[in-house]
Amino acid sequence: MMAITKIWRFADWVLKLETSNSRPMYEMECVSCDATSGVAEEPTGPQDWALKHAGRTQHTLFRALHTCFFHAVPKTVRE
Ligand SMILES: [Zn+2]
Repeated sequence: MMAITKIWRFADWVLKLETSNSRPMYEMECVSCDATSGVAEEPTGPQDWALKHAGRTQHTLFRALHTCFFHAVPKTVRE
């Protein structure tokens, strides 16, 4: 009788930052009210908005949101 062995390999996966199609997104939210800066690709616009909002309203606490995208890709096996 012939023995048949099946070998299953499960690749390890790694996360790779996606920069070509999906740019990072930055946004600032005021914690005191519901005002937001709107989404931008650079942090400077939302930060400027927060400073102007503080000057207008005396609201001084902000939540910074930074969204970026990752691809899960099989880890390259080095032997
Ligand atoms: Zn506010």
